[in-house]
Amino acid sequence: MSTLRFNALQETLHRKPVFIEEKGRRSELFGKNVFNEPAMRQYMTKEAYQSVMDAVEFGTKIDRKIADQIAVSMKDWALSKGATHYTHWFQPLTGATAEKHDAFFETIEGGGAMERFDGGQLVQQEPDASSFPNGGIRNTFEARGYTAWDPTSPAFIYGTTLCIPTVFVAYTGEALDNKAPLLRALQAVDTAATAVCKYFDKNVSKVNATLGWEQEYFLIDTALASARPDLMMTGRTLLGHSPAKGQQLDDHYFGSIPTRVMSFMRDLEQECMLLGIPVKTRHNEVAPNQFELAPIFEEANLAVDHNSLLMDVMEKVSQRHQFKVLFHEKPFAGINGSGKHNNWSLATNTGVNLLSPGKTPMKNLQFLTFFVNTIKAVYDYEELIRASIASASNDHRLGANEAPPAIISVFIGSQLSSVLDELENVTKGKLSPQEKTDLKLNIVGKIPEILLDNTDRNRTSPFAFTGNKFELRAVGSWSNCAGPMTVLNTIIAKQLKEFKIEVDKLVETKSLKKDEAVFNVLREYIKASKKVRFEGDGYGEAWEKEAKKRGLSNNNTTPNALKAKVSDKAIKLYEEMKVMNKVEVEARHEIELEEYSKRIQIESRVLADVARNHVIPTAIQYQNTLIENVKGLKEIFGEEFKKFSKEQIDLIQKISNHIAEINSKIEQMTDERKKANKLVGQKNADAYCDKVTPYFEEIRYHCDKLELMVDDNLWPLTKYRELLFTR
Ligand code: ADP
Ligand code: MG
Repeated sequence: MSTLRFNALQETLHRKPVFIEEKGRRSELFGKNVFNEPAMRQYMTKEAYQSVMDAVEFGTKIDRKIADQIAVSMKDWALSKGATHYTHWFQPLTGATAEKHDAFFETIEGGGAMERFDGGQLVQQEPDASSFPNGGIRNTFEARGYTAWDPTSPAFIYGTTLCIPTVFVAYTGEALDNKAPLLRALQAVDTAATAVCKYFDKNVSKVNATLGWEQEYFLIDTALASARPDLMMTGRTLLGHSPAKGQQLDDHYFGSIPTRVMSFMRDLEQECMLLGIPVKTRHNEVAPNQFELAPIFEEANLAVDHNSLLMDVMEKVSQRHQFKVLFHEKPFAGINGSGKHNNWSLATNTGVNLLSPGKTPMKNLQFLTFFVNTIKAVYDYEELIRASIASASNDHRLGANEAPPAIISVFIGSQLSSVLDELENVTKGKLSPQEKTDLKLNIVGKIPEILLDNTDRNRTSPFAFTGNKFELRAVGSWSNCAGPMTVLNTIIAKQLKEFKIEVDKLVETKSLKKDEAVFNVLREYIKASKKVRFEGDGYGEAWEKEAKKRGLSNNNTTPNALKAKVSDKAIKLYEEMKVMNKVEVEARHEIELEEYSKRIQIESRVLADVARNHVIPTAIQYQNTLIENVKGLKEIFGEEFKKFSKEQIDLIQKISNHIAEINSKIEQMTDERKKANKLVGQKNADAYCDKVTPYFEEIRYHCDKLELMVDDNLWPLTKYRELLFTR
């Protein structure tokens, strides 16, 4: 057998689970390495503590003198935990996280040294930002970028480094990262939702968006993965024949977690506990070697940070266990892909989940208000939501015959559908006393307090109501949740703002009572947004046709989907809600198009390399064996040899044909790449999408055929069955 593949298999088969010591009860470990409220109270003056709390709750500025105090407390705490360095931790537009470590250590004039950290170092830093993508922002303004402390996400220690969550902005104010727009969107939704809440409860003074993500991933042994240049370079397999046994038996999903994986999970969970990431569930997923991890939901900004941090920690912990973790949405053709469901809701500072039905009709009216406004917002901006989850890797999942489709629709279940249907028929204008009673008792009163167990679970819907929250299921496993969360919260903010204006107008001009006005506006929204509601099978072809009739978008490639990000409608929305200005929006669009093209370009190069340098030479080697065999048969049997070498000769021909096809397709693909490289922006991405990617399937087809023909012993790349089933 090919030595690399043989050694990889041997290594994998002989692995033992890494022994993981339990460091203590989870509840005791939780947040130990986080500068959280208890730690702050212990290390900070009352004044400093209060100023951080105010910044978190009301967004108030922290005075420079106080910042100095906070920095000293933070340093003392960090040193007590063995930290030696600090870093401003941020999320550049490439999706990963970035950090540059500085030591606390400083020398003192006249000899000696000390650990130092002051307010200036806490509040603002200037990383060498020239290598981070900025979509031309910095070039346009010739401005440098700086990172600024985000007090709403607590500092934490990872390894021996104090990590301070920060935003990354240009000196001209434009956001260069994912966090800054998210914070602005969360601010917008807080303002708009709080104003609407006051219709129902005057005590509400803040509304937080909540997020609970569910991270899916694959774990592949490092040795097996290392024998696959495509996996190592692109995060997915570009070729490989499906194994005889895939996931059709569903035995993995229900099966017990393999021992080595279990010890990885325990290790990971302990790390998460220390970092204050409240991970709660772990289980196998549908595909072999696919798993999921989900935390208890948190305030959205913190949850987004925690997901980015988690992905980072997973990479590190997996190495200790000789695994490569795959976040790609579709690492294996024909095998279930990975997503990252974003469970989202709104919660008041009085402890109410605004998407949870209540006990009384009034509470239910509040629930309906947020529920219907969400549906309306999604209807109005479905294309923008689709754009927010677009990436080269997620394209393999969306609309690719596997959930969820590239069409954004909303599933709410039969019970709530009938409530909305009834509400739709309430008279326009002032309600009669009878209608009022009907509404209270028959319609709103009918919403059960606990919907959780009653909501039918339609797994094919990209945006589903699941009892007390909406679940955006179309987010890719590799993506940063900040993108979709920024869009979702921005459009909800815009919608709620509009809603308030309309209700107030009815109250003033038509002298309607407040709840009557609310009903009237909601009824119009229910009618207006009906087209986005869909309860059927989202994967079927029938839905594609139906959605088209309804006027819903179906942008099934990234270059197409991204256009919605820079539409006039989107720019107007972002500017009105003060989430991003035109420059920031356009810069992001440019970066994402470029990122798309780069990924396709890399995949195309790697595919050509693997096909030419691994597959073809192996096929030729095997073909030579066959040729030798036929020659030998001829020596023995003379002209009668044909009788005994039919299969061999057939194979020799087929191999030649496949090789020829692979070669010519690679040449054509390379030509298309060259043409694409002469184009820029949208045209460049379009060319990569429409002209280059079609060759992937074709080249793969011939490579996979060869995999089936060539002697298993010669094949150099680890096979699907080995990647997915060797433990
Ligand atoms: P599943 O979708 O796998 O059935 P669950 O419905 O139990 O899982 O919950 C999925 C996720 O939803 C969990 O991470 C949970 O923390 C999160 N979640 C629950 N309530 C809320 C909420 N109000 N806001 C945001 N996320 C929530
Ligand atoms: Mg889910």
